[in-house]
Amino acid sequence: MKNDLQIAKEIELKPIIEIAKQLGIEDEVECYGKYKAKIDLSVMNQNKKDGKLVLVTAISPTKAGEGKTTMTVGLGQGFYHIDKKSVIALREPSLGPVMGLKGGATGGGYSQVLPMEDLNLHFTGDIHAITTANNAICALLDNHMYQGNECNIDPTKIVFKRCLDLNDRTLRDITIGQGSKVNGIERKDGFNITVASEIMAILCLATSLEDLKARIGNIIVAYTPDDHPVHVKDLKIEGAIAMLLKDAIKPNLVQTCEHTPAIVHGGPFANIAHGCNSIIATKTALKLGDYVITEAGFGADLGAEKFLDIKCREGKLTPDCVVIVATIRALKMHGGVEYEDLKEENVEALSKGIENLAKHIDSITQFNLPYIVAVNQFTHDTEAELEFLTSWCEQNNHPCEIANVWLNGGAGAKQLATRVVSLIEENNQTFNQIYERNQTLEEKILTIAQKIYGARGVNYTDEAKAQLETIKKLGYEDYLVCMAKTPVSLSDDPKVLGRPTDFDITIREVRISAGAGFIVCLTGNVLTMPGLPKEPAALKMDVTPEGECIGLF
Ligand code: ADP
Ligand code: MG
Repeated sequence: MKNDLQIAKEIELKPIIEIAKQLGIEDEVECYGKYKAKIDLSVMNQNKKDGKLVLVTAISPTKAGEGKTTMTVGLGQGFYHIDKKSVIALREPSLGPVMGLKGGATGGGYSQVLPMEDLNLHFTGDIHAITTANNAICALLDNHMYQGNECNIDPTKIVFKRCLDLNDRTLRDITIGQGSKVNGIERKDGFNITVASEIMAILCLATSLEDLKARIGNIIVAYTPDDHPVHVKDLKIEGAIAMLLKDAIKPNLVQTCEHTPAIVHGGPFANIAHGCNSIIATKTALKLGDYVITEAGFGADLGAEKFLDIKCREGKLTPDCVVIVATIRALKMHGGVEYEDLKEENVEALSKGIENLAKHIDSITQFNLPYIVAVNQFTHDTEAELEFLTSWCEQNNHPCEIANVWLNGGAGAKQLATRVVSLIEENNQTFNQIYERNQTLEEKILTIAQKIYGARGVNYTDEAKAQLETIKKLGYEDYLVCMAKTPVSLSDDPKVLGRPTDFDITIREVRISAGAGFIVCLTGNVLTMPGLPKEPAALKMDVTPEGECIGLF
């Protein structure tokens, strides 16, 4: 069987300007080479009715893969098979996972966004711009202290870290400014991966360049010895930092395998950040397509919850339907099957693992949204297994369609697209978020833990308790909550698969992202700078003398 890169290479791309023409925005795009373009922010502000918004989420991810991106692309293509105009909106891949464990993040088989090599590598440079903007704050802050420290920053109370878009565990805890005095003030520092940085979150939540600048100004970078916060605006550099992002804020236009439009922009991780593409990209897509299909990272407990509670609130977006992707393979793993044994039929394990799907469906219904289970079909799925899953859905009144988008592209999602259209047309529910802004932070956290994770309660470490007190004193009680949790379990323990019950969530640390507008609650041992595995994907990569990529997947 051909791999994703081989399939991608066989497809003859259309010049991006043709895709722009198809959307009627040829005068509003700026081409970055032949197959990529930036879309002007004016498109988002057109006085035009918005399309319908479809969110793609999934069960808790396993090593067996779920294929949310593949399904998002396939469904986007599928709408054109039923004569409906769709635009998909996705995140940009981070080089951390590309070089590390996961490989690319541009879909798979005949449901990919292209050119996949560019998308997975440097694309239009947005992530580099974000990295530079982030590190410019750090350089200017260290220089501010070196040049007299007018803001009275306590070098032991700096909370804004440098960043890099790679997995590099050696940079988690470092000392900077070593050596002679002219090298700056010696202090402890560390790096986050760019996709976990507050600048990335801000870029994805900003609704204009002005809003971006204001949010950057509000970032807390450090505290004084008596614990007064020091913001980016106190350093008077928010203008310069926003300037560095003036192009990165514009959404990127590319195409799918079937030459349908795709907007790929912004890429925060869903476990440690809020996990969705930019609000600007989604709003732009809503002006251009009658149906917009967008993905939120990891399972519905992480990406979808943050999409619905954070992104939709900040962007005043109302989703119309949720697609919950499940695979027979992953459900069998939730039911106790080892990865190596997945090829064997095992309906019994499937019947146990299905509880994980049941919980995610339950979570989505709490937002009052129509949903459909999309079964991402793999070649080894057996008739009996598929039959079990579809009849379980039928018995429980869960809408469900099998889609083979990896193998068949948009044609594989024709029925799914048709069902999504009718679910939207028949919908008479009113979307609601699961918590309110004016609840206390503890109430908001408890609501997410109980309603979405199925937890009994929430524990706080002493450190987290003290941090919450500080946050309240500083006046951030009305902020939204961005949970940082392992994606592989509904609990905060990655070893517990399926649908755990009788467990508590432990909040270990609480951080303020004052610019983004949320507080980050860290559970378990999630890291904001990942490490590389023993055999990183990079070992299989190469480039030919002609510049052809090998080993990207
Ligand atoms: P997610 O967005 O949920 O992380 P992706 O869509 O990126 O998942 O898919 C992960 C990997 O699984 C990709 O390499 C993709 O090619 C592969 N994949 C997805 N669906 C299928 C399928 N039905 N058959 C074979 N491979 C698939
Ligand atoms: Mg994905």
